Amino acid sequence: MPSDKANKSAIRIVNRDETSDADSSKNELNIATDPAVCQYCFGTGTEVVSGKGARPCRCRAQDSRQRFLEAARIPRRYANCTLDNFKSDPNSSPNIAFRYACRLVLDYPDVDRGLLFMGPVGVGKTHLAVAILQGLIQKGVPCLFYEFGSLLKEIQDSYNPISKNSELRVLAPVYQAEVLVLDELGATIPTDWVRDTMHQIINKRYNDKKLTIFTTNFLDDPRTEQDEAAARQDEAIDDQDEAAPRRRTRGKLTVDRRARQSDTQTLEDRIGTRLRSRLYEMCNKVLIDGEDYRKRLDKRRFDSTRI
Ligand SMILES: [Zn+2]
Repeated sequence: MPSDKANKSAIRIVNRDETSDADSSKNELNIATDPAVCQYCFGTGTEVVSGKGARPCRCRAQDSRQRFLEAARIPRRYANCTLDNFKSDPNSSPNIAFRYACRLVLDYPDVDRGLLFMGPVGVGKTHLAVAILQGLIQKGVPCLFYEFGSLLKEIQDSYNPISKNSELRVLAPVYQAEVLVLDELGATIPTDWVRDTMHQIINKRYNDKKLTIFTTNFLDDPRTEQDEAAARQDEAIDDQDEAAPRRRTRGKLTVDRRARQSDTQTLEDRIGTRLRSRLYEMCNKVLIDGEDYRKRLDKRRFDSTRI
């Protein structure tokens, strides 16, 4: 703000190397004593580094990351999911998926395909999808997270005449997000409207060449006998779990619990042939096998990741 005299006079030369440890501990000290004023720019937003000149202050970059994080709509239960705290055994399928996630964050923006994390409930698909967003936000990339069912519900609610929202207002950020996660693809009962809406969203992002990351509980091929046994085990655990009643009814858009666990329904059954092939054009499929997860199944972690 050049017209603001007080701010203008506050620009100062920073002589110290901003990456040195002494500097960062001093920074912490200053923040502790006076949290309101940035020690590098005194609130002007411009810091001057000796030998390098003026540049936007580092505090502004932190601000924008914080803003990106808030705008990303990452659900609170996943707020702490990062690549750093994803646990997987070496060479297991979750570990391979983890490496895909790291690669994407590292290579972005030099990435032309998203990821489709496919696997049963509780293998860490959403953790990895959120962790990618967290990593990209740290790189300054604006991102957005939506559970597909919630997005459809918001669109549907916008049709209500007393709603303050319009369909376009719901969809604009979904279309525009540089990187989008759509969690739980196929979990909503696929009515014509649901399929049309999925098409509209996914095709728009495809045409605009925007990166999208999907997760789905539905597999590509009908399961093998071994998988069926595992699925029955899942159902037994599910029956004990009465803590998730919200999954059962969400207005007209009902999450289809039985189909989710079904041995016979595939992703194609849930989203249709055209959309499935579009997904494969947009994404690398990353299959996460439940077996690897079950080996180290611990009830507490299971409960915390599966809802
Ligand atoms: Zn500053």
